[in-house]
Amino acid sequence: MDQLECVVIGAGVVGLAVARALALSGREVMVLEAAPAIGTGISSRNSEVIHAGIYYAPGSLKARLCVQGRGLLYDYCAARGIGFARCGKLLVATHESQLPQLQGILAQAARNGVDDLVLLTAQQALAMEPHLNCLAAIHSPSTGIVDSHGLMLALQGDIENAGGMVVLNSALQGAVCSGAGIDLLAADGTELRARCVVNAAGLQAPALARCFAGLDARHVPNAYFAKGNYFTLAGRAPFEHLIYPVPQAAGLGVHLTLDLGGQAKFGPDVQWVDSADDLTVDARRGDAFYAEVRKYWPGLTDGALVPGYAGIRPKIHAPDQPACDFLIHGPREHGVPGLVNLFGIESPGLTSSLAIAEHVLRMFS
Ligand SMILES: Cc1cc2nc3c(=O)[nH]c(=O)nc-3n(C[C@H](O)[C@H](O)[C@H](O)COP(=O)(O)OP(=O)(O)OC[C@H]3O[C@@H](n4cnc5c(N)ncnc54)[C@H](O)[C@@H]3O)c2cc1C
Repeated sequence: MDQLECVVIGAGVVGLAVARALALSGREVMVLEAAPAIGTGISSRNSEVIHAGIYYAPGSLKARLCVQGRGLLYDYCAARGIGFARCGKLLVATHESQLPQLQGILAQAARNGVDDLVLLTAQQALAMEPHLNCLAAIHSPSTGIVDSHGLMLALQGDIENAGGMVVLNSALQGAVCSGAGIDLLAADGTELRARCVVNAAGLQAPALARCFAGLDARHVPNAYFAKGNYFTLAGRAPFEHLIYPVPQAAGLGVHLTLDLGGQAKFGPDVQWVDSADDLTVDARRGDAFYAEVRKYWPGLTDGALVPGYAGIRPKIHAPDQPACDFLIHGPREHGVPGLVNLFGIESPGLTSSLAIAEHVLRMFS
């Protein structure tokens, strides 16, 4: 059986970032990816927003890794010529009942170390975005957008330059964890022994972890899937900032994001689904988008929204349960030497990817 130092399962942005950190630390690394290309999972179906770190519970991994990851990501993009824009966002209150929520968001952001938010009156917000409707807004200047595929290609390049490998069309089927190492079995029958294994399989991470003999099932959360549908705008949007309503129970509300080419999209909404493969966008869901978007952009014309794409959030809590933090479990939590499982890496996972990688590296040090 071939022996390797580190194997990372999954070549999404998180698996690639972790593999890069391991490779740059001098370790021998192989990434196993089931699909024929990198970044075809959750990492290719998101908003590509570099989040500031505003919303997450103070002290949580999401809060800490988002703030840390945002800084690392901006620096990495600048150093590597990866497309990004620090366009900023406006978080808008469109009803009086939401004004206290803005105060709460400011206080929470400050506790998370996000110290550049500015509370704006309606006039100040309108001076920045004349087509906006709001009673007040928060400006977040350090929110931005990134070319996520450019990012993943750069991560892959760093892995390979440091001597690591990314192996495509290689689904891991299961593993046996013993004191001597972790024996991995790929779907094509290949067997490998690794000293360190990182399960970064995104939506499949819990199901895969259940196939690891020697890992107690108590340490594997149930998987739930919350689809986020996007509708794109036909024509150009009259906005330069990302526009967000105040957050809702299971998501950030139907917001407007821009890509680096200036194309506007709205979403994602929240639709709990049974399958991680359910990626169709039902055009009828657009009706609810019009109503939500017109609260902050009354000028949205009938027929301007076109069904776009959908991404699925890797939830580890049921729809009626409170949202979970990222679950990053290593030997200290589950008792299996050399194994790290990454569960529930939903938003802000893209923003946090480089910080998650540092966090995992520390677990192996
Ligand atoms: C709708 C939506 C919007 C989002 N918006 C943002 C945003 O704006 N900003 C932000 O910071 N975050 C955002 N996120 C979160 C972010 O996209 C994710 O946190 C991040 O992409 C997760 O990356 P990953 O590498 O963990 O998962 P993935 O990209 O899914 O990668 C997992 C990989 O594992 C592979 N795999 C699965 N099983 C196996 C196996 N058995 N063997 C080998 N390979 C396997 C898959 O093929 C896949 O390529 C959003 C998420 C969603 C769903």
